[in-house]
Amino acid sequence: MQFIDLAAQYMHLKARINKRIQAVLDHGHYIMGPEVQELEEKLAEYVGVKHVITCANGTDALTLAMMVLDIKPGDAVFCPTFTFFATAEVIAYEGAIPVFVDSDEATFNICPIDLEKRIQATMADGILTPKAIIAVDLFGLPANYPEIQKIADKYNLKLVEDAAQGFGGEINGKRAGSFGDIATTSFFPAKPLGCYGDGGAIFTNNDEYAELLRSYRVHGKGIDKYDNVRIGMNSRLDTIQAAILLEKLAEFPIELINRNKAAENYSTTLAAKYRIPSVPDGYVSSWAQYTVLSDDRDSEMMKYKEQYVPTMIYYRACMHQQTAFSQLGYQEGDFPIAENMAKKAFSIPMHGYLRL
Ligand SMILES: *Cc1c(COP(=O)(O)O)cnc(C)c1O
Repeated sequence: MQFIDLAAQYMHLKARINKRIQAVLDHGHYIMGPEVQELEEKLAEYVGVKHVITCANGTDALTLAMMVLDIKPGDAVFCPTFTFFATAEVIAYEGAIPVFVDSDEATFNICPIDLEKRIQATMADGILTPKAIIAVDLFGLPANYPEIQKIADKYNLKLVEDAAQGFGGEINGKRAGSFGDIATTSFFPAKPLGCYGDGGAIFTNNDEYAELLRSYRVHGKGIDKYDNVRIGMNSRLDTIQAAILLEKLAEFPIELINRNKAAENYSTTLAAKYRIPSVPDGYVSSWAQYTVLSDDRDSEMMKYKEQYVPTMIYYRACMHQQTAFSQLGYQEGDFPIAENMAKKAFSIPMHGYLRL
């Protein structure tokens, strides 16, 4: 059994994907070929946003968002402490300070109540300028955007949705990738929509941001990449990856149904044993991971192993527990819910080709 069965997916899509890759080899436009624009249009339609800008990976997508929002030294950007490192890394990379926020016990996502407390505490300190929030759609479930957007508006903060794990999720019919001022995703192979290498995308309804993003992703280009009007980066999605993603996106809705069926089955059988993930009314998860909490994590993982079922720990450490952020001065006990999750969480196989 595979934790994420990319081979089963490839078996299913082989003819279509091979044909798409061959088409790229035949036309030879490896950089920004026609498949890139076709993919950006299809993604915009699926997610329901005006602009999609693809890029080299999910971390660059977040970095580009930080650049557009002009995040810089002296700024505070709020993000959950229980997430993948990249969420917080991009804040520090701009010289700003990540201010961590505890999680919601039921959804594992950023807690709006703690978020407001941390914003108020940062304002009271008066050292940093609160600028933005990065909320994360952890394990595929969209964060509580109705509440988070209210807080962003109240304190005049920009809101970024890190939908690296959330692509395909929904709140009341509104899709992940459409929340906040800018949203980002990753096409890392193991994500809900993955390519065969690195890839990412940025979503926005803001025309000005879209224009800036298209410039930043190609060396701050003006008229073309030899006319450079600002400092940017080189972060494009390869044409071959776009070609692969076009076929995977076409199949994605069916895979999403399968993932949800698998999750329902898991929840029915595991509810008595573990703290299972809760999906609030009106929300749809894309189930990037199916993660449970157990007081006996090691022995429970061993039981799966004995049956040849792979498990993984997402995540063993919160951001405030990472060595790279030790200088921020957080202590054990500062984020009790997230710390508890880091001690108890483990994930079991989840993909669109699980045989139930
Ligand atoms: C995977 C991931 C990223 C980074 O994506 P890459 O494509 O690996 O750079 C960022 N945030 C979260 C929450 C992720 O899970």
